[in-house]
Amino acid sequence: MSAHIPTLFLVIIMVGSLLSMSVAVITDRSKQDGVMFWAAGLGMNTAAVVFISLFQRGHVDEFSATVLATALRSCSWAACAEGLYQFYRKAPPRKLIWAPVAMVALTSALLFDQLPLRIMLVSLIIASQCLVVLSLIWTRRHETPGRGKFFLVAGLTATITLLSLRVVGAAMGASAALASVAESSQIQTISILVSLFVLILMSLGFVLISKDRADDLNRQLATRDELTGLANRRSLNEVLASEWARAKRSGQPLALAMIDIDHFKRYNDHYGHQAGDECLKRIARDIQMNARRTGDLAARYGGEEFLLILPDADAAVALRLAEGLRKSIESLDLPHAHSPAGKVTVSIGVAALDDACYPDAESLLRAADDALYRAKDLGRNQVRVALESLPPDAAEGAAPIKLVQLIWRRAYESGNTVIDAQHLALFSDVNRLLGAVLEGRQAHEVGPQVDVLLVDIARHFQEEEVIIAAAGYAGAAQHAALHRALLGKADMLVRQFHAGTLTLGELFEFLAHEVVARHILAADRAFFRHCKPRS
Ligand code: GH3
Ligand code: MG
Ligand code: MG
Repeated sequence: MSAHIPTLFLVIIMVGSLLSMSVAVITDRSKQDGVMFWAAGLGMNTAAVVFISLFQRGHVDEFSATVLATALRSCSWAACAEGLYQFYRKAPPRKLIWAPVAMVALTSALLFDQLPLRIMLVSLIIASQCLVVLSLIWTRRHETPGRGKFFLVAGLTATITLLSLRVVGAAMGASAALASVAESSQIQTISILVSLFVLILMSLGFVLISKDRADDLNRQLATRDELTGLANRRSLNEVLASEWARAKRSGQPLALAMIDIDHFKRYNDHYGHQAGDECLKRIARDIQMNARRTGDLAARYGGEEFLLILPDADAAVALRLAEGLRKSIESLDLPHAHSPAGKVTVSIGVAALDDACYPDAESLLRAADDALYRAKDLGRNQVRVALESLPPDAAEGAAPIKLVQLIWRRAYESGNTVIDAQHLALFSDVNRLLGAVLEGRQAHEVGPQVDVLLVDIARHFQEEEVIIAAAGYAGAAQHAALHRALLGKADMLVRQFHAGTLTLGELFEFLAHEVVARHILAADRAFFRHCKPRS
């Protein structure tokens, strides 16, 4: 099979120029993705063929045509290397890229009369240029999106194979046939057709890698938050909907952790918006690092709020993860002059779909949000779990505060009207305090209310001790000792609360549950039968 060589040259010139112009036109120069270099490379390759055609028609002498054409071919591969380095945003090793061009030109000129050696050396130098480009693509194949890289690898491999065959051919004495452009030979025909095929393959490859990267970037822009790089609200909604459906289908748990930076407005006001942005980025990085399990998604929910979607995590797992994240952010030690902790901290609300029955994903999200607000109310820099999501064995220390209303029942009556009236009054004191906790009142606002409760408890204990002693209750002294212990602890906690080292929630838990509920509903029952029945 041999074709008319001048016609093939003409085809190469036409296809090469067309490809070069098309590639140059479709590429967006501002993107600097290396495609312009490939367009230039295509142009140089076409120019090389033009010189050989001109020599063939007798318009240029053989020496000039040979030196110029081989140098231009080498140039086109150097441009290809430049383009790929630009695509990968890597500084090009200029000497390694352009020195071969000078070597090719010199070899062609100095060894012009030694055809076999000239063919072998020029082919070897150009093949090594292709090898440099090939190794660059191969080492970065995992970070190159799409199929374009395979087109480039195929084009380069074909070129290296062709050049190696030229070296072998020249060594075996076929240099005259390899160099001849005057007669149509099989070697020339195959060689030109392969070159044509390589040009098309490489052009497609360049356009594809550039397009696929642009698509990737667009996809990222559509799903990523610009500032922090985390998933944005849109992809959060999509992932939440699909994880919700999967959890419902499979019966697997699903947990959400809503994270909010504490006193971030003050941070912005004090350090400026730009520093605020940097802080958001730093926190986002930490959140991302803590969401390492497969399927976990870290998203920016809005402003300074983030959401972690934790598939297959029950409340206990999510609580541990959230507590680890809270500590990790605290230990970043990012200074925050207007935060009580002196550094940037976060509050986290956790809700899990395991034991609890939430009707839809929105209600799970709302539960995490409510838990977050509870964490804020209880003093910030802490993790709270939605009450409905609680596992029976929630980790100690991070156990949630029980914010339940105390409801008085007749069964709680002792039979002594004074004691019962005081118990009832303590119940309503506690419920009033609960209202203040839920409304997120500050310490100074509820301070007097707390003091009233403490005084009421002390007065009640005192009067109760007198009544049960008079009624002849044998355990009166022991009961009085219990009162003293409870009162001592309550007094200490109230002092800590006033000093700002104890949150209202923690104080509430002790007063409501240890003193009022547990003591009145359990310990006091021991003397009930000593009290006079109500008339
Ligand atoms: P809390 O502890 O109760 O959460 O108080 P906070 O000040 O963090 O909460 P608030 O909702 O009052 O203020 C949130 C602030 O977050 C308001 C806004 O200035 C800041 N913020 C929201 N988005 C951005 C952002 O993209 N960049 C910066 N720098 N600040 C932001
Ligand atoms: Mg907020
Ligand atoms: Mg905040």
